[in-house]
Amino acid sequence: MLEVTGLTAWYGQAQALHGVDLRVDEGEVVTLAGRNGAGKTTLLRCLIGLHRQAGGRVSFRGRDLARVPAHRRARAGLGWVPDDRGIYAGLTVEENLLLPPTVSDRAWPLERVYEVFPVLAERRRAPGTTLSGGEQQMLAIARVLRTGARLLLLDEPSEGLAPVIVARIGAIIREIKATGAGVLLVEQNVTFAATVADRHYLLGQGRVVDTLDNSEFSRREGELLKHLGI
Ligand code: ATP
Repeated sequence: MLEVTGLTAWYGQAQALHGVDLRVDEGEVVTLAGRNGAGKTTLLRCLIGLHRQAGGRVSFRGRDLARVPAHRRARAGLGWVPDDRGIYAGLTVEENLLLPPTVSDRAWPLERVYEVFPVLAERRRAPGTTLSGGEQQMLAIARVLRTGARLLLLDEPSEGLAPVIVARIGAIIREIKATGAGVLLVEQNVTFAATVADRHYLLGQGRVVDTLDNSEFSRREGELLKHLGI
């Protein structure tokens, strides 16, 4: 579904990505792991069309995205959940959920969202920005599901959250996978990554240094934690 070849990115004269190749298939959960500064967020921003100084090829569902601006990429089915979650201030939880445009026939009806995210149903009339960190993460994911995105790009969904909430987010990611959507997630929490993903790309200094299926990743968990500092 997503094919990235030779992706490069710069900040001025400084090169942040040095020819990254990766792919995500339908119904596949893939992580991008790596130390701080490895280029994970830059890569997501290139995919969604928010990083201008970029080269290489990004193809999504057979379509070259080179000339496709960010808002059209969203319409094509790329759903981005930024690391700051991007909850609309001044709107209630329900208003946050009603606002996104529908981009495909996979769009989740509100009732389905409330079934899978009961906490959002309970807090539907609360201002979105008054939710806890974990609830905001769920709202941000739910909002993208409401659009019917075919590939979700999640930037560190587990960051700063209590283990019980992280486990809940893991269950939600598995639920998303079961619908046939793909998920590409930036994740530094190796233990969490091993519970949700099918494959993993290890990024180091703007390059893919290893690609592992989940059984190998899980087997090497201790070593990855130690040597990569992730
Ligand atoms: P983190 O987990 O800390 O977010 P990351 O793997 O997502 O790290 P990026 O944020 O993509 O890494 O950063 C990749 C490289 O690009 C780093 O060397 C970083 O210093 C540099 N970089 C990121 N943002 C900028 C910026 N706005 N201006 C200049 N350099 C930047």
